[in-house]
Amino acid sequence: MKKTVRVFKFGGASLKDPEAIKNVANILWPYKNEKLVIVVSAMGKATNALETVVEAHAARNGKAFDILNGIKNQHYQIMDSLFDKDDEVYALVNDAFVEVEWVLEEEPHENYDYMYDQIVCIGEVVSSKIVHAYLNKTGLASQWLDARDVILTDDIFREGWVQWDETVERAEAKALPMLDLPGFIITQGFIGSTTENFTTTLGREGSDYTAAIFSYCLDAQDMTIWKDVPGVLTADPRVFENVVKLDRLSYKEAIEMTYYGAKVIHPKTIKPLQNKSIPLYVKSFVNPDGEGTLISDEVDDTYPPMVAVESNQVLLQISTRDFSFVAEHHISYLFNIIAEFRLQVNMMQNSAISFSLCINDVDDKADRFAQRINDKFKVMLDRGLELITVRHYQDELLNNLRRGKIVLLEERIRDATVQMVVKDVPLIRRRQNVAAS
Ligand code: ASP
Ligand code: MG
Repeated sequence: MKKTVRVFKFGGASLKDPEAIKNVANILWPYKNEKLVIVVSAMGKATNALETVVEAHAARNGKAFDILNGIKNQHYQIMDSLFDKDDEVYALVNDAFVEVEWVLEEEPHENYDYMYDQIVCIGEVVSSKIVHAYLNKTGLASQWLDARDVILTDDIFREGWVQWDETVERAEAKALPMLDLPGFIITQGFIGSTTENFTTTLGREGSDYTAAIFSYCLDAQDMTIWKDVPGVLTADPRVFENVVKLDRLSYKEAIEMTYYGAKVIHPKTIKPLQNKSIPLYVKSFVNPDGEGTLISDEVDDTYPPMVAVESNQVLLQISTRDFSFVAEHHISYLFNIIAEFRLQVNMMQNSAISFSLCINDVDDKADRFAQRINDKFKVMLDRGLELITVRHYQDELLNNLRRGKIVLLEERIRDATVQMVVKDVPLIRRRQNVAAS
């Protein structure tokens, strides 16, 4: 028998210091008698800091322990403001850090991504321990659940893919009984485990996805992501003017925009929710009484123009070496390798003898991919590009977006979406243009 449960997710910004954690507890008080699963991210920018520990360890530059100690101290400072000196949380957090110290005492593992996950996961582990202890201390009873006992992934480290059947079973076996105990369940975003019990991560910013996985497995009544913005906005307010909050959004709109770089929610979050028609609220932890945005299966809304910009794009222009057509067998060959590399393809286009592919420029994936197909294809890489996706566009807006940019690839998809891959016009050319006009 499933139970009525709601899932909340708090990201790093909502847990960045003692005041922020107290604010989270205040947000939770009105739900004291409800069944809540609370998914937390690492505190503040802890994941970025932990990534530098991994880099230092891999580089054997002797700095890994110092950086880790810095991170540990930041957590201790937060704890000093929240707990008495003899609180048992100190030992729990210390034990968690000791596990990373063990990793650092070994030689760097040859599989970088594996090593990354074993170290970086600690951010969520300690964050959840601290939040758990603090809620209990303030009278909000809660149970600590290790998300790795629930979320089973494959063994592609740093990008684990959820094994859904087993994860549902494990959620029913581990999480459901906990809902009978008093209080909330506190668990970690971002992390899972392989069948061999190695920790995996679900991809950067993956805690939203974790919350959606729990929502799906437990048939949640709804899910709420608490953010530092009032809800889902039509564009990034740091870059655009006249940005407005959307009160309601369909799953389809949300998935399209987040896939192409709207940073408000992790793109993988929507599917599990859509599959079970679980409404998703995006609300502000700064103004928790605000209405936020409701994402649901409503379809017949009309929307204002929305813009998502994904930077750090690389365009691969792939052409056959022997002037043969980029025809079916070439395309299927390329697609297989794209799948093998788990490339997120943001845009593609082909001509007779060439094929263009725009992907996120993460790590050295683009280079490794180019290397892999090098025997059959010539590949040209153009880096440092932006992908601009506009839904419900108006021509004037498109013209504004193109200003000062060179458009390398552009596509209109039916009447709702325009996508373009752009780079900045070099300064020297812009000067010439002004002189000519
Ligand atoms: N802590 C992880 C990250 O910063 C996961 C998350 O915050 O969603 O990427
Ligand atoms: Mg985050």
